[in-house]
Amino acid sequence: MIITIFNKRRRCFSQTRKHCVYLFTAIVILSLSVLNCRADVNTEKDYASQREKMVTEQIEARGIRDPKVLKVMRTVPRHQFVPEKLQNLAYGDHALPIGEGQTISQPYIVALMTEVIKPEKCIKVLEIGTGSGYQAAVLAELCQSVYTIEIIGSLGKRAERVLSGLYKNVHVKIGDGYQGWPEAAPFNAILVTCAPTKVPRPLAEQLREGGRMVIPVGDAGAQELVVLIKKNGRLEQQAIIPVRFVPMVDIKGKTY
Ligand code: SAH
Repeated sequence: MIITIFNKRRRCFSQTRKHCVYLFTAIVILSLSVLNCRADVNTEKDYASQREKMVTEQIEARGIRDPKVLKVMRTVPRHQFVPEKLQNLAYGDHALPIGEGQTISQPYIVALMTEVIKPEKCIKVLEIGTGSGYQAAVLAELCQSVYTIEIIGSLGKRAERVLSGLYKNVHVKIGDGYQGWPEAAPFNAILVTCAPTKVPRPLAEQLREGGRMVIPVGDAGAQELVVLIKKNGRLEQQAIIPVRFVPMVDIKGKTY
């Protein structure tokens, strides 16, 4: 008799436990699908609000004022230019790895360099160091045409794929940007996103009279972002801020 009651209780207990497990599994599955749906529906909206926050807190707060630049920084989908695994970090206040030991620049630096060249719908721009293609995208929104050169083939190809899906006015070349792009020169503006120790002469030559070049100059430890303005064939130089960019290298990987 006692044994029967005990067995009944055990059965009862094990059934309750089974029900608990079913219930728990159902809750987990339901929550996961709800989360998944949320991600699918809201992602672009989430990214848009992250971009808004990025512009207010990182870019306007540090003194970028050109309304065209601010508008474009609010528009270009930066997350599409970073590796998929890092997309949730795309709008943070920092550079991010893009593979091959290279980085996409911090949003503020992209905005600053863009503002410094005084972008206009009628100008032709050369960028050295395509990397992810993000800076080229920002320029493509504001300028007539963008010529961009990347020395690492895999990065250049990936950037070209993303850019060609979004813009018709960007030309990507894989090669050594130290030499510039003589066939497309002269340029109204040149924006260099890798650092040589001295301003490359071919780039100075390919800058149009009255044009502006923004470039980080110096060795790995101490680079300065400078703006050069061509006046009467000579370059006037003005320092902006200390920065840290990847070095400009030649085909063998030697730093310029
Ligand atoms: N503008 C990029 C940031 C690029 S980081 C962006 O928006 O993501 C700098 C890039 O310069 C790297 O991809 C690096 O491979 C490239 N680079 C270095 N030396 C170069 C050279 N001589 N010519 C062209 N690209 C170069």
